[in-house]
Amino acid sequence: MSGFVGAIDAGTTSVRFVIFDHGGDVVAFAQKEHKQHYPQQGWVEHDPIEIWQNICIVIKSAMEKAGVTAKDLAAIGVTNQRETIVLWDKMTGVPVHPAIVWQDTRSDKICSRIESEGLHHKIKEKTGLPTRTYFSASKLTWLFENIPELKVRAEKGELLAGTIDSWLIWNLTEGKHITDVTNASRTLLMSLESLKWDDELLGIFKVPRQILPEIRPSSDPQIYGMTKKSGPFAGEIPVCGDLGDQQAALVGQTCFNVGDCKNTYGTGCFLLMNIGSHIKLDRTSGMLTTVAYQFADNPPQFAFEGAVAFAGAAVQWLRDNMRLIKSAAESEILAQQVSDNGGSYFVPAFSGLFAPHWQSSARGVWVGLTSYIKREHLVRSVLESICFQTVDVVRAMEKESHTDLSLLKVDGGASANNFLMQTQADLLGSRVVRPKILETTSLGAAYAAGLAVGFWSNTDELKKHWQEDARFSPRISEDTRNSMNSRWQIAISKSLNWAD
Ligand code: ADP
Repeated sequence: MSGFVGAIDAGTTSVRFVIFDHGGDVVAFAQKEHKQHYPQQGWVEHDPIEIWQNICIVIKSAMEKAGVTAKDLAAIGVTNQRETIVLWDKMTGVPVHPAIVWQDTRSDKICSRIESEGLHHKIKEKTGLPTRTYFSASKLTWLFENIPELKVRAEKGELLAGTIDSWLIWNLTEGKHITDVTNASRTLLMSLESLKWDDELLGIFKVPRQILPEIRPSSDPQIYGMTKKSGPFAGEIPVCGDLGDQQAALVGQTCFNVGDCKNTYGTGCFLLMNIGSHIKLDRTSGMLTTVAYQFADNPPQFAFEGAVAFAGAAVQWLRDNMRLIKSAAESEILAQQVSDNGGSYFVPAFSGLFAPHWQSSARGVWVGLTSYIKREHLVRSVLESICFQTVDVVRAMEKESHTDLSLLKVDGGASANNFLMQTQADLLGSRVVRPKILETTSLGAAYAAGLAVGFWSNTDELKKHWQEDARFSPRISEDTRNSMNSRWQIAISKSLNWAD
């Protein structure tokens, strides 16, 4: 059998192609950024053609670096920025509109309208998600309400729609129109129960069924299709793994048991907990329920997901707006030059607070400032705020899932910060572990594809690849932890109800 598996990782700001060997180690890697388009306030678009062309470039570049050809690759997996929607012509393959990105809020009035009709309860019941602009469905509604020609063409069956994974699989293969259960679970159009597009949801969002892709398992021995010989691989390889990026990281971290959790520290934080094969809906703290993965025709596994809006982004803000640090890495050095936060607490509620507070009118605050406080304290308080926000999400998840978290697996750019990780362990009162391979998103997509073709035999084999880079155990007393967490809650209360 061929010796490697390839993963296409189409993120929000860049795309990459990563080649993994049988031990799950990175053999070669190439990355390319794409343009972010902001045509109006609140609008965010990508050019689907640019994304596809960049994918072709990174595939060729990584294959050259590794010195491999198509026959060396046993399978291809795809992972992607979730929720972003593309609409293209079925015959020509040309997009009929720029991709509307997950951050885009142009459909806010559509979501408010659906809420005012009281339909959001039913939507949450079926999809595990709140009715927000973030998810794909209302973006399609917006396109059809605002560009009538697209509605007519969609109804005639001339157009195809899909999230970025679907657009890429269509281009990689001879036009297979496919998505996986994890990506479909972010559209607001799939029922978690049936794992199929749901007529009632399609009716609410006015989306014609025929434009949507077929929903398949995340790891599919039936394979989605073979790569085209005329495509970037210049050969035929099975495309058979597909996962949304956060679910891919959960798989890459081998969180296959109920209660297993990973937190990705990037611009924001995304915490996912495997909750097993039964759907659980959070009734009180607003955790999302989402499909974690489905391997072959095994039952799907579900996850709770909680997000922190400003994590690494707060560190960037310290650097670019406050100019208190020169680089993100310097935050670690400065924070360690003081023994504590000096009583200062920072709440980065720049655009409100997500789970479990869900306060859109909260705004950022720095509290507890005295003449004793210096730059190092402030930097420390910003790093601590990332950890406190994560603690809030973990506690809400524990409550909803009736499981106690004993270990948190971490990844993402900011997880390189040892002070941040130690503080996380201290404030959580649980161990925090960081793997050697931080490319967990790409690795998850590679695992899904490799499992489908028997390159790897089962999840137990994958678990053996997981190697620890560093482990952080709680070092502070329970009293100190409780007292810091309760000060944090007071700081949160100061940030609430600020904006009109
Ligand atoms: P994304 O995928 O969301 O773009 P990454 O995983 O690449 O994010 O991580 C980048 C983010 O992590 C940035 O917001 C940056 O400020 C933050 N970051 C990177 N390195 C560090 C560090 N050593 N300490 C704290 N934050 C960091």
